[in-house]
Amino acid sequence: AHDVHIIGGGLAGSEAAWQLAQAGLKVRLSEMRGASEDKGGEMTPAHQTDGLAELVCSNSFRSDDSDKNAVGLLHDEMRRLDSIVMRAGEKARVPAGSAMAVDRDVFSAEVERTLSNHPNVEIVRERVDTLPDAGLTIVATGPLTARTLAESIVQATGEDRLAFFDAIAPIVHRDSIDMSKCWIQSRWNKRTEASNEDGDYINCPMTKEQYETFVQALVDGEKTEFKEWEADTPYFDGCMPIEVMAERGVETLRYGPMKGVGLDNPYDTTEEHPQGRWPYAVVQLRQDNKLGTLWNMVGFQTKLKYGAQVDLFRTIPGLENAEFARLGGLHRNTFINSPLVLDRQLRLKSAPHVRFAGQITGCEGYVESSAVGLMAGLMVAAEHRGEDWSPPPRTTALGALLSHVTGDAEAETFQPMNVNFGLFPPLHEVKKKQRKEAYTSRAKADLGEWLASRERVPA
Ligand code: FAD
Repeated sequence: AHDVHIIGGGLAGSEAAWQLAQAGLKVRLSEMRGASEDKGGEMTPAHQTDGLAELVCSNSFRSDDSDKNAVGLLHDEMRRLDSIVMRAGEKARVPAGSAMAVDRDVFSAEVERTLSNHPNVEIVRERVDTLPDAGLTIVATGPLTARTLAESIVQATGEDRLAFFDAIAPIVHRDSIDMSKCWIQSRWNKRTEASNEDGDYINCPMTKEQYETFVQALVDGEKTEFKEWEADTPYFDGCMPIEVMAERGVETLRYGPMKGVGLDNPYDTTEEHPQGRWPYAVVQLRQDNKLGTLWNMVGFQTKLKYGAQVDLFRTIPGLENAEFARLGGLHRNTFINSPLVLDRQLRLKSAPHVRFAGQITGCEGYVESSAVGLMAGLMVAAEHRGEDWSPPPRTTALGALLSHVTGDAEAETFQPMNVNFGLFPPLHEVKKKQRKEAYTSRAKADLGEWLASRERVPA
């Protein structure tokens, strides 16, 4: 008999299992890799072993600098919450400057050893094909969730609420956009009830020459290849890579996402057009989170290499000094539209005994996935005790990430996201040079208070 069923023994599932087991709950952890054929044993296309918490690609947990870096801060917060991923990561650590990198085999073996020796954890090698009808459940099956379970999730969430591919347009920090070259306006000044007063788009205008140079650079730019098992990645209408559109002809983008009609460029006024003429072409950015700190480049999903994206997108007028919270991409990636289908405690609105954790919630990366697993574990432990779980403040990395995936992100453009300072309540009053440290010191103090308030709660 178990108190909680966790499906998926990757990073998030392992972390959730550890937090729950340490809180005294009995956990059943189901992992399909390593299961026998009659139990539905299956590999994902990216995993190579049947070890728990396998790192499928890089061996890095990225920056370990908790003073200046959002993911480094997340490491620090997870350590303060006794994360198994951070513990095992420390044991498996290899030299990597200010980054935290690990020996992936030592790491996975350490996670597996710790969990299999824990009296409260039962690791079951089996594939789970349907969401359980009852009982506390955490689904942590990751970006390559097995097909049958994904279908069961679609039934519970509704069509179009589970994506099988991401189509990521770059996201820019609002305060890095040079507004002396761009302006805010909606095309034809169209408005909805949700509209901002001035308009909903930041418009970066281009001349004919700038546009043609830009289109050529898109065509020539170095692209990443699909992995063999991603080769059937479909180009859906509306999320075709920008360079594929550019290859169709020099005018294609000017009739698509870069069209300038209906936009009055205030930097190009004439007597006849006192409001401003329409630009030859335009790059538009749209608000991506409720805080208004992050803006996505509309229609700019791309498979250009990261370096090529930064170089090229910084040639766009107004984006010369752009800081990117996320660069574009297109991958196989199973994730739910969390802002729509989950409540603030990661529970499925249509079946609240089921929580989601890890990359399937729309966070991105090893550390973020583990962090969401950690929080899911704490939430379930509290629920089992009959307590309300108050989340870490949104000024912390954990709180900011959780707030983003459970409601602060725009549902319409929801795509996987790494932790970054754009998810934190802004500190506009702090000078840019000191801002990162201001975010992290506020976070550290606030997490400390949150931890202390948890200790005051009677057991
Ligand atoms: P996973 O770690 O994938 O764990 C999910 C687990 O669920 C797997 O063990 C899987 O076998 C199991 N499972 C799936 N379906 C079922 C089922 N029906 N029943 C039972 N078990 C099931 N992030 C980085 O930070 N750096 C990188 O370099 C990086 N590279 C990546 C490369 C690729 C090709 C992919 C796909 C992802 C990459 N990521 C990277 C993202 C990273 O994999 C994830 O962020 C992280 O592993 C997600 O953790 P998770 O626990 O959500 O999922």
